Amino acid sequence: MEALAQTVTITLPDGSTRKVPSGTSLREIAAGIGPRLAKDALAGKIDGRVVDLSARVEADARIEIVTPKSPDALALYRHSTAHLTANAVKRLFPTVQIGIGPAIENGYYYDFNPERPFTPDDLSAIEAEMKRIIAEDNPVERLEMTKDEAIRIFDAQKDALKVEIIRGIPDDRVSCYRQKDFVDLCRGPHVPSTGKLGVFKLTHTAGAYWKGDEKNPMLQRIYAACFLTQKELDEHLARLEEARARDHRKLGRELDLFSFDPLAPASPFFHPKGAVVYNGLLSFLREEYRRRGYDEVVTPQIFDAELFRISGHYTNYKENMYFTEVEEREFGVKPMNCPGHFLLYRTRLWSYRDLPVRFADFGRLHRYELSGVTAGLTRVRTFSQDDAHIFAPLEKVESEIFGFLEFVDTVYGAFGFEDVEISLGLRPPKRMGSDAIWDRAEEALATALTKSGRPHVVTPGDGAFYGPKIDFRVKDAIGRPWQLGTIQCDFSQPENFDLTYVGEDGARHRPVVLHRAILGSLERFIGILIEHTGGNFPFWIAPVQAVVIPVSDRFGEKARELAGRLSAAGLRVECDDRNEKLGARIRKAEMQKAPCMLVVGEKEADSGTVAVRLRHGGDAGTMSIEEFVAAAGRAVAARSAELTTEVKDR
Ligand SMILES: [Zn+2]
Ligand SMILES: [Zn+2]
Repeated sequence: MEALAQTVTITLPDGSTRKVPSGTSLREIAAGIGPRLAKDALAGKIDGRVVDLSARVEADARIEIVTPKSPDALALYRHSTAHLTANAVKRLFPTVQIGIGPAIENGYYYDFNPERPFTPDDLSAIEAEMKRIIAEDNPVERLEMTKDEAIRIFDAQKDALKVEIIRGIPDDRVSCYRQKDFVDLCRGPHVPSTGKLGVFKLTHTAGAYWKGDEKNPMLQRIYAACFLTQKELDEHLARLEEARARDHRKLGRELDLFSFDPLAPASPFFHPKGAVVYNGLLSFLREEYRRRGYDEVVTPQIFDAELFRISGHYTNYKENMYFTEVEEREFGVKPMNCPGHFLLYRTRLWSYRDLPVRFADFGRLHRYELSGVTAGLTRVRTFSQDDAHIFAPLEKVESEIFGFLEFVDTVYGAFGFEDVEISLGLRPPKRMGSDAIWDRAEEALATALTKSGRPHVVTPGDGAFYGPKIDFRVKDAIGRPWQLGTIQCDFSQPENFDLTYVGEDGARHRPVVLHRAILGSLERFIGILIEHTGGNFPFWIAPVQAVVIPVSDRFGEKARELAGRLSAAGLRVECDDRNEKLGARIRKAEMQKAPCMLVVGEKEADSGTVAVRLRHGGDAGTMSIEEFVAAAGRAVAARSAELTTEVKDR
């Protein structure tokens, strides 16, 4: 009878059961199933909880062995590799204090308190030491102890940061993990030995405040990429490399598009070439607005603070606004166009026949962003949006949404954003407006999406407190997602501003306001567009569409004359007639990512033709100047990315 009490039943993932003595470790169970599984095992699961392989089964339970193929393996592997990094750092820099080292997306980090910042050479040395520790294949063991015992260990290791963490833990007992010469405070679980690790790359360091608090000392954070297979790591590193090459801050400098000055923090200066792109976006949108029944308006920059009291910005958004005082009156610089548009709407009486009315505004907005969070064009303090407000009766919301979806496709298509994710945000728990209004508005949005045949996800609770919304996220050329467009119903501001229209029944009704943008901030969009295209702007919006290059001095005049003709035809053209080798000038035009180069030599000068070289396609043959102008015109009209098809179709 006693022997029976010491046996427990384990259920494996395939549903089979086994009886094992109580106290059997997961490692022993894995070995019992098969030598291959024992070799691959990284950890185990008891009743769904991930535990060390050394954990023992004391009662009937569902058991699973975690191998590199398990969904649970990655976080564990990354965190064990973080311990490995700290182990190596302590060996190389015994006086360095260790902080924390969690797994994150694509890898992990570990915070340290070194006497001097780690250099790239240090990172190489740490990696080499990590490889040595992997080769040693040191067992990783779990130790449970009282807090006092743990404090003694970390005092001896001179790890004051860890001691601080332990003092802050409410429990009496803590767990640590030891791998030979290194102990770290940790809840675990971990891989059974350092030999299980190996697929990682220390990528960079950055400053990070201890516990994320800027009042605390600044630590050095080592970031690492870490995956279960070398292939995944290599692919990730290639993506990082690709992202670095596309970094809009770097390309913005190289292509002379924009810059920043400390005297205007986080506020971009667009250089002439950047301004071409900026204005190209405006012209594009204005053209679409004209086709789609939008009216552009121009509204003030600065308003009496009273406006923002009515709109609620003064209570809810004050920290992000700029204020000024004139004649003892407080003024706010607008962070959004909407409140101004409501004043404009109120300047006349509207009939249901006038609606929807669509006010578009490229007004300059200012929002205060903490300096720490500003980075290039993606987060700036001054910007302009492709912003518009649509005032519509509730029953017209559906058709407005339907039209907007088509508008969004046109705009994203012009930049080659093909992968668009749409999400429909429904009512949050805290909201204004009756359930009847919400029912109708949500229904209108959902119906428009369904009728347009666009796949979308529904996110309950994700709507704004003032109404449901649809958000648009695009994936760029290397698969990174960017939130761009939005259309949001608003039942709240029409109340605040007492907006009305006269209905068919002759009575006053409240319109719904739709806040909508497709690109969002133009500044941020330009940053995204640079990264998406790698600086190879679509032909129609490229700052320089063609560079004319004479093969030698002799054809300089002919080339300048040609450039003049192309400019007169409306193309953006530069002539590189510098006294430099032809190859060097072609190389420069390529570096500037001009969509095409027009080379002029003896044959071309005599026959009034140009030899066309395309950015990606190479040699596109010789054609007359008229043919080239016509091809370029077609490319602009079609908003083509490259001239490839247009020059073929000439
Ligand atoms: Zn840990
Ligand atoms: Zn708005």
